[in-house]
Amino acid sequence: MPEKITAPRGTEDLIPPQSARWQALESRARALARCFGYGEIRTPLFEATELFVRGVGETTDIVEKEMYTFLDKAQRSMTLRPEWTAPVVRAMLEHHLLAQGPQRLYYIGPIFRYERPQKGRYRQSHQFGVECTGYAEPAADVEVISLAWELVRSYRIADAALKINSIGDETCRPRYREALLEHFRPNLAQLSPDAQRRVERNPLRLLDSKEERDAPFVASAPRFEAYLCDACREHFAAVRATLDLLDVPYRVDPRVVRGLDYYTRTVFEIQSGALGAQSALCGGGRYDGLIRSLGGPQTPAVGFALGMERFLMIVEAAQGAPIETRAGIQAIGLGVQARAALLPVVAELRRLGVPAFMDYEDRKLLAHLKTADRNGARFALIVGSEELASDEAVLRDLELRADRRLPLREPRVLAASLVEATI
Ligand code: AMP
Repeated sequence: MPEKITAPRGTEDLIPPQSARWQALESRARALARCFGYGEIRTPLFEATELFVRGVGETTDIVEKEMYTFLDKAQRSMTLRPEWTAPVVRAMLEHHLLAQGPQRLYYIGPIFRYERPQKGRYRQSHQFGVECTGYAEPAADVEVISLAWELVRSYRIADAALKINSIGDETCRPRYREALLEHFRPNLAQLSPDAQRRVERNPLRLLDSKEERDAPFVASAPRFEAYLCDACREHFAAVRATLDLLDVPYRVDPRVVRGLDYYTRTVFEIQSGALGAQSALCGGGRYDGLIRSLGGPQTPAVGFALGMERFLMIVEAAQGAPIETRAGIQAIGLGVQARAALLPVVAELRRLGVPAFMDYEDRKLLAHLKTADRNGARFALIVGSEELASDEAVLRDLELRADRRLPLREPRVLAASLVEATI
C-alpha cells in the first residue's frame, strides 16, 4: 500500500459539524462589521516579500523567522501573507482609496506563519480584522476596540478580558526605550536567551516575554505611563474616558506592547485564560506611521486582528460543544417505488429553500433515522408500501418525537403543505 499523505504540520482540515461553527462565526463577524459601516477587502494570498519586510518590521518575529518565502519561476521573492495590515495598506494605496477620505475595511481569511505548532498556534490560521484609516481622534480607537469587544460579548465569553495600553509615538518612545535599556542592561546575563537577543533591537518586546527568568525584571521595569508625551497622554486618557462612556470594560496593562513594529499610541489585546500560554485571541492598535512608511501620505489608522481558531476554542471551552439546531427534512423512501415518489418532493422542497436530504439505498427505517440525525434534520418524511397504499405519508418531528399523517399528493402540493406543517 502506498503511504498516506497527511495535511502539513500546523494546518487543519475543517469538516462538518466544525465547519458550520466557522460559518456561523464568519457570518456574525460580517454582520457586525456591516453594523459598524465596514466593507470587505480581499487581497492575494501572496505578496512581494519586501511589503512585509518594510510593513511589519525587520526586528519582528514574523519577519525574522516565520515567513513562508519562496522564489517564483521568474526569481521574484514572494511571501504567503503572514498578516493582513500591510497588504490592506498596499491595496488602499494601489487603488487610491485614501484620497477618497477615511476608509473602513474588514477582512476574513488565512495567514501563514512558520511557528512551532502547539495548542492555539498553527502555521495556517485565520483572522477576522478591521482597519480604520483617516482618523487621528481617540473615537476611532474606541470604535475599533468596541467592534472587537462586541463580537466577544455576543458569544458570552465570561473570562475574556480587554487590556489596553499606550506605547507612545516617535516623540516619547525613544526616551522610554532608553529607560528600558538602562533597566535591562545591567541584568543581561540573568535574562532568557530570547530577551538577551532582543534587548538592543527592540527592548519593548521584552515586556511581553512569557519566560519565567524574565518575569522579575519585567515586573520592575519602568512603565510607559511615566514617559508619555503630553499629546500621547491626552490621547490615551480620551480613549479610556470614551470606553467608560460606552460601558466597555477594560484594564490598563503596561505589559501589552504587541509584537509588530508599526504600532503607535493605543495598543490592546483581548485575552482568555482558556487558551493557556497563547492567551491573546485578538490584538490591535493604532499605527499612524505605517501608511507613510509604505509610500503613502501621512494617514492615521487603527485596526485589530482576531484569531478565529483561538476564538472558537475559547467559545467551546466557555460554552461546551454547541447545541446544533435541527433544520430540514429527511425524506425516507422504503423501497424503489416510495423513493421514486419522494424524489420530486425533495427537489421541490429544495427549490422552496427548505434543506431536504435523501438516501438512495435499501436500508431499515432505523438506519435512515440515524442518517437524519447525522444530517441534523428536524423532520423525517417517511413513505413505505403501506403509505403508498393508503396515499399518506408520515411526517415525524424528530425533536418532539411526534408523528402526523399527510395526504400523499402531487409533489408541489405536498412540498407546499410540508412547508406549512414544518414552520
Ligand atoms: P497578530 O497578527 O500577531 O497581532 O495576531 C492577532 C491574533 O491572531 C492573535 O491574537 C491570535 O489570536 C491570532 N494568531 C496569530 N498567529 C497565530 C497562529 N500562528 N496560530 C493561531 N492564531 C494566531
